Amino acid sequence: MRPFTYERPADVRSAVAAAGRPDAVYLGGGTNLVDLMRLGVATPRTLVDVTRISSRAIEETGGGLLIGAGARNGDLAADPLVRRAQPLLARAVLEGASGQIRNMATVAGNLLQRTRCPYFQDVTKPCNKRLPGSGCPARTGDHRNLAILGHSEHCVATHPSDMAVALAALDALVHVEGPDGARTVPMPGLHRLPGDEPDRDTVLAPGELITAVEVPHLPFAARSRYRKVRDRASFAFAVVSVAAALDVAGGVVRDCRIALGGVAHVPWRAEAAEAALRGAAATPEEFARAADAELARSSPLPRNAFKAPLLRNVLVRTLTDLAEPAEPAGFAESEPVETP
Ligand SMILES: Cc1cc2nc3c(=O)[nH]c(=O)nc-3n(C[C@H](O)[C@H](O)[C@H](O)COP(=O)(O)OP(=O)(O)OC[C@H]3O[C@@H](n4cnc5c(N)ncnc54)[C@H](O)[C@@H]3O)c2cc1C
Ligand code: SF4
Repeated sequence: MRPFTYERPADVRSAVAAAGRPDAVYLGGGTNLVDLMRLGVATPRTLVDVTRISSRAIEETGGGLLIGAGARNGDLAADPLVRRAQPLLARAVLEGASGQIRNMATVAGNLLQRTRCPYFQDVTKPCNKRLPGSGCPARTGDHRNLAILGHSEHCVATHPSDMAVALAALDALVHVEGPDGARTVPMPGLHRLPGDEPDRDTVLAPGELITAVEVPHLPFAARSRYRKVRDRASFAFAVVSVAAALDVAGGVVRDCRIALGGVAHVPWRAEAAEAALRGAAATPEEFARAADAELARSSPLPRNAFKAPLLRNVLVRTLTDLAEPAEPAGFAESEPVETP
């Protein structure tokens, strides 16, 4: 591991100033960053520890929830306010990692965790994301768990966060403080597609610090679900996942929110599926038609083509369950779904 200096600034302004130095990065819970430093993938000269100055508060505002960037994932998933107002978010967070990791991981760090593409994590291999211009061996190599939507010839990585998928479905706003002041970044919109700059995961400028995440009130939040398919039941990243909320009246879909995980460089908002569903009958046939509308935009690679029918089935099943809820509205633990 390259030697680095460690700083613990007293306030947000000092943190932003410290992060303006070359090769300085923020440190949250360290559950991703420190692993990448050990592997030699991340080689910062300065760690700016923001855990002491990041709010861990989870509050109800007039328009929804305001979640401090330093809130631990475990606290977020267990919070009664979150479980009641945004059960989709609580469920998605609970489906990620293990209890120990969730107790360390912060909301901001979760959003900014890096891809699990095996070549990205192996410094002996080329990788355009880690070393721009070196190539993308995943395209012809191991891409079983990589993207089928929105990828480019330069990178086919997926974003690993479960929480980000829920936040993309819920139209969250990410509050940021940077060298040029404060701003909010909408989700989806924080993460970017790889294009010809796969080394840039997000639209954040250097030194910008995430301070909070706002989740607007959703009138039909109680009828929502996060379903994740993974290779094993204990902590594993999504092969595919679906975050969905449905507003059904008289057998017709009045409104819906759908975001997909494990299939793109970003938490993928399924806009084509949503457009196909609004005003349609709430039936499995229409749900399948909506899934097909979204998948028409996909371009699977040879070894991850199975993700398209898998995603279609998971989406149709999730929407069907939401249209005919077999359980009371609100938060309920869900069983992990393993790949067949
Ligand atoms: C074994 C294992 C299994 C896992 N399984 C899953 C899973 O199934 N689903 C899932 O979603 N996640 C999973 N994770 C990932 C885990 O959720 C992340 O490691 C964690 O959320 C990162 O949060 P952190 O606070 O530790 O971030 P850190 O590691 O501290 O930081 C991550 C990144 O965020 C940046 N950062 C941190 N805070 C800020 C801030 N306030 N502003 C700007 N930048 C900031 C850092 O500079 C760094 O680039 C798993 C991790 C492990 C180790
Ligand atoms: S998919 Fe992206 S992260 Fe993986 S090897 Fe290619 S460039 Fe690197």
